[in-house]
Amino acid sequence: MSSLVDQLINDNLIPLKPYESARRLYAGGQDWLNANESPFANHYDVDSSHFNRYPSCQPDGVINGYAAYAGVEKGQLMVTRGADEGIELLIRTFCTPGEDSILICPPTYGMYAISAETCNIGVKKVPLKADFSLDVEGICSNNDVNVVFICAPNNPTGTQVARQDLDTVLRHFTDKALVVVDEAYIEFDADNTWANKLADYPNLVILRTLSKAFALAGLRCGFTIANDDVIAALMKVIAPYPIPDPVAQIAAEALSKENIGRLHAQVDILNAEKARLTEALSAFEEFEMVGDTKANYVLFRYAGCKALMAYLVERGMLIRDQSKQLNLENCLRVTIGSPEQDDRLLQLINDYFSQTGASK
Ligand SMILES: *Cc1c(COP(=O)(O)O)cnc(C)c1O
Repeated sequence: MSSLVDQLINDNLIPLKPYESARRLYAGGQDWLNANESPFANHYDVDSSHFNRYPSCQPDGVINGYAAYAGVEKGQLMVTRGADEGIELLIRTFCTPGEDSILICPPTYGMYAISAETCNIGVKKVPLKADFSLDVEGICSNNDVNVVFICAPNNPTGTQVARQDLDTVLRHFTDKALVVVDEAYIEFDADNTWANKLADYPNLVILRTLSKAFALAGLRCGFTIANDDVIAALMKVIAPYPIPDPVAQIAAEALSKENIGRLHAQVDILNAEKARLTEALSAFEEFEMVGDTKANYVLFRYAGCKALMAYLVERGMLIRDQSKQLNLENCLRVTIGSPEQDDRLLQLINDYFSQTGASK
């Protein structure tokens, strides 16, 4: 039968492998500091009285709540099955397979390229500069791309994007391409959002998610924010019932005034914990902190990263190896966990160095 699959599968899919998500890489584990999830598991109740009905395509409670939270109009917003679905819809709506391309700036989030490749869309790469700032000139020399993806704060470098640079890119592509600013981590650096700038840039698109600061990765709920005409085009492509009813109920509840207050309190805790973890990791002579800490993770370089990673994984402490990414040789990324998890990580690293004889 596999010969039938070989015969029928789309040519562009042959070289691809399933995405190595944090969940797929390690089935076991005790401390999950590898997927930038929140350590807080908040309680929600669900009402099953309408589960016999199809849900609304864009549930009012979710749209109203998120529009108010983000400070945009309802027509400038679309809710999706995670921000990842937003990425795919942008590519499917605005790029023609076999003809068009997107532009990405590695090292960055992996799903832009993966979504493009599964849709047979080209991927142009303009690497970030050595300090992880945008290569604005390099980006603007690509005039034959349809969608430019910029992650801010960037995953996995934790760096923010200079306002002036993004402004230049948006203006350069005004009549040429959409510029997508992925704000998956914006709650950890809230002053730098672009969501209040839609009126200035017709080609600006913003991605958001409930998976990170909102502590709802298991929900699969994200948002695309853009001017009305961009949202109207995306609505042609989105599935009729993308948001399951229980997801809509929980998302609407997460967006209540009270729960937004809780979100801010949890972000404050994580930012304080991030400062503590950054300081503690910096104290290891062998580690070089890399990038910045504008999101809920820290990145560091260590020549023995493979052995350290194996040591931690064996003890159920899961962090993320980023060493295959461009310019991130020997780099490991750690998600900020609970104080207990972060303490355990630091203890394990101490143990590792005393056992291997390496000095602190
Ligand atoms: C986690 C992440 C996403 C995906 O968010 P989901 O809503 O869980 O699909 C998108 N972009 C970046 C940069 C991320 O790190």
